[in-house]
Amino acid sequence: MSASTLGKSIFFIGAGSMAEAIIKGLVTSAIIAPQQIYVTNQKNHDRLVELREKYGVELASSIQQGCELADVIVLAVKPWAIKDVTTELAAFLNNQQILISVAAGITTEIIETIIKQEIPVIRTMPNTSSAICESATGICKGKYVNAETLHIAEKIFETIGKVAVVEESQMDAVTGLSGSGPAYIYYLIEGMEKAGVEAGLSQEVSRELVVQTVYGAAKMLLETKAEPAILRQQVTSPNGTTAAGLQKLEDNQFHDILYAAVARAKERAGEIG
Ligand code: NAP
Repeated sequence: MSASTLGKSIFFIGAGSMAEAIIKGLVTSAIIAPQQIYVTNQKNHDRLVELREKYGVELASSIQQGCELADVIVLAVKPWAIKDVTTELAAFLNNQQILISVAAGITTEIIETIIKQEIPVIRTMPNTSSAICESATGICKGKYVNAETLHIAEKIFETIGKVAVVEESQMDAVTGLSGSGPAYIYYLIEGMEKAGVEAGLSQEVSRELVVQTVYGAAKMLLETKAEPAILRQQVTSPNGTTAAGLQKLEDNQFHDILYAAVARAKERAGEIG
């Protein structure tokens, strides 16, 4: 894609790890020129200079200045800072602009209520793999979002990975599944690595084999688009080693544990929000 295919300028309020991940995705994919990206934060000016040097983005001296320059405003502050930032922002917004939030647990309705204007608000839930442009991001729309506006948000978040558009009522489920998901996979890898050591391998070899196995299995699913159950059956010969290992997972209710983990994380997302 050539520069500026997005056709919009973007203002990031917040310059932390999530803002950087999205800026990196945007600049790397070249759907927007770095000079059309503005960033501000609260107090850490060195951090803004770092982002300018790394990605060539512009710095905004205030929320007002950035808002006056941009078509899309991204709220990339912690959830507890959303109320103050949005309240300040509301005075400078107009209904030609689009507001996107990455704040966990903050509904579009909360933001719309603070803004008190009919402005499109889009809520997103990326995950930590956004840092390497491999996020699995859930997106949902507020009251005033049309198809074109939603498409712009999809294009922005596709620069940091895959995007699924869901209903807002499903966002806690997204949080419990893909938001928290990387940690589940790290935990699985920790366990498999220890199991490999227990079975007689060095930690180094065990780590290398496990990480590549997880990567290879995920890549196989992505490339073949096959059903995971079919791929599993294909590598499981009757009475073989894989069948024996899988039986142990089943005996110990492996899937029930996963259901419980996702359900509890979903429930917790609802409690925090
Ligand atoms: P972070 O690294 O702590 O960054 C927060 C940023 O917000 C900092 O640049 C901070 O500036 C700025 N800020 C705070 N108050 C501000 C204000 N009043 N005006 C302007 N800027 C202000 O946080 P993060 O990890 O990037 O997370 C940002 C959001 O992304 C959170 O809402 C989180 O729920 C969401 N999220 C993060 C991830 C993830 O993997 N990190 C995943 C999903 C969702 P100073 O440093 O100057 O104070």
